[in-house]
Amino acid sequence: MKFPQHRGNAASILDNLKAKKSDDLPWQSGKVFAYIFDAGDDTLDLVHDAYGLFLTENGLDPTSFPSLLELEKEVVGMALNLTQAPDSAGGSFTSGGTESILLAIKTARDFARANKPEITEPELVLPETAHAAFFKACSYFDVKPIVVPIDPKTFRAVPEAMAAAITENSIMMVGSTPSYAHGVIDPIRELASIAEEKGILFHVDACVGGFVLPFAKKLGYDIPDFDFSIPGVTSISMDIHKYGYAAKGASLVLHRDAAIKKYQIFSCASWSGYTVINPTILSSKSGGPIAAAWAAINHLGEEGYCEIVDKKMQASKKLQDGIAKIEGIYVLGEPDACMFSIAAEDFDIFPIAEKMKTKGWYIQPQLAVANSPENIHFSINGANTPHVDALLVDLEACVKDVRANQKPFELPLELTDDIMALLENLTPEIFDEVVKLLGSDGGDIPEHMEEVNVILNQMSTKAREEILKEFINRLYAPV
Ligand SMILES: *Cc1c(COP(=O)(O)O)cnc(C)c1O
Repeated sequence: MKFPQHRGNAASILDNLKAKKSDDLPWQSGKVFAYIFDAGDDTLDLVHDAYGLFLTENGLDPTSFPSLLELEKEVVGMALNLTQAPDSAGGSFTSGGTESILLAIKTARDFARANKPEITEPELVLPETAHAAFFKACSYFDVKPIVVPIDPKTFRAVPEAMAAAITENSIMMVGSTPSYAHGVIDPIRELASIAEEKGILFHVDACVGGFVLPFAKKLGYDIPDFDFSIPGVTSISMDIHKYGYAAKGASLVLHRDAAIKKYQIFSCASWSGYTVINPTILSSKSGGPIAAAWAAINHLGEEGYCEIVDKKMQASKKLQDGIAKIEGIYVLGEPDACMFSIAAEDFDIFPIAEKMKTKGWYIQPQLAVANSPENIHFSINGANTPHVDALLVDLEACVKDVRANQKPFELPLELTDDIMALLENLTPEIFDEVVKLLGSDGGDIPEHMEEVNVILNQMSTKAREEILKEFINRLYAPV
């Protein structure tokens, strides 16, 4: 694309930008069950204004912008209060759950380097339901993920199996509250006590649950303890840009012992420019996300969050009860919060997501991995709660229709071991052949995602990863 030669008119630039949204998920409908976290127009307007107010200020240097330092200290302080942290605790504001998790693992690695120098090949013990961000952290920081099977019925981590996976190289164990995929809470008390006994760190991933569970507990829902009130819990990640209702770019990594945060910080005085001391991954960063997060928390308060959480929990229960009555589908495990996923008993589930999309609903497909069958996922928001009955009607009709009329989807190629080996060592040439077989040119978003998902679902995780990397690399080809 040619670089613009002349100045553009601001109004038409904005019109252009608005027009570009036309194919995006229409989240304002209340019929989208992923990606968007919306607490209503009041909060959204405030978050927008607060973000704008600090758009230009730079969090790079807290001495130049003490306002941002103060906002961060207050947001971290409020989160520590919510998670029952001791006075010794500390934390940082980050750009998202992934950054919070990357930092928790980097901190654990560097803490081990300083305190257990005999460990040369550090390991992270995690249940197979832990978020992809832990695998990313392991890949970025050269830590070996030791993946432990979960209970295939409850989808919870199994304490005995997790304990058995600990070796002299283990630096940290992980539990989720809840796991994103199935919405179930791992047995944190048991896991943390194992970690403590073995002398390793324990991270609670409350990215999606951090702004739900404390309020659900206050409301009297049956929520197990998950926070710093459990002695072995050494760090927690929680996203303010999910159920905290801040603007995206807002999460927290919290440490029981602020002293350990030192291992999180990067400091560089060895170059010729301004001194760089970064507690988190970014260096220059807008003050917008922290101001928006501070505003959302103060606007809603415990009262506001409780009100929304109650609605979400009830809607989630009602949806699950309704789904239990639909023949052919079932809820995976026993979800503890306001998200869950459903699988099919005797047909391919992915066409349900596609069919529901034609009726305006967005539900997220999730591929089969280890003990978790292929499924579709719902994260419930306040905006979804008025649409529960309508959703159940459409879902029941879709399931009936798909179940009665589904022809087994014929794979265009048989995934023999030889072909799988080729896919796992994918070259651009093999990718070209695969997409030709699928009747696509490989450069666009496929029209029939259900077929793509059915095919991916039958591949090894390694083959999926290689194919998707090649696909995304081409999808972002510049114009
Ligand atoms: C969303 C999520 C993450 C990752 O957070 P991002 O903000 O998308 O980077 C990690 N863990 C859990 C449980 C999550 O739900």
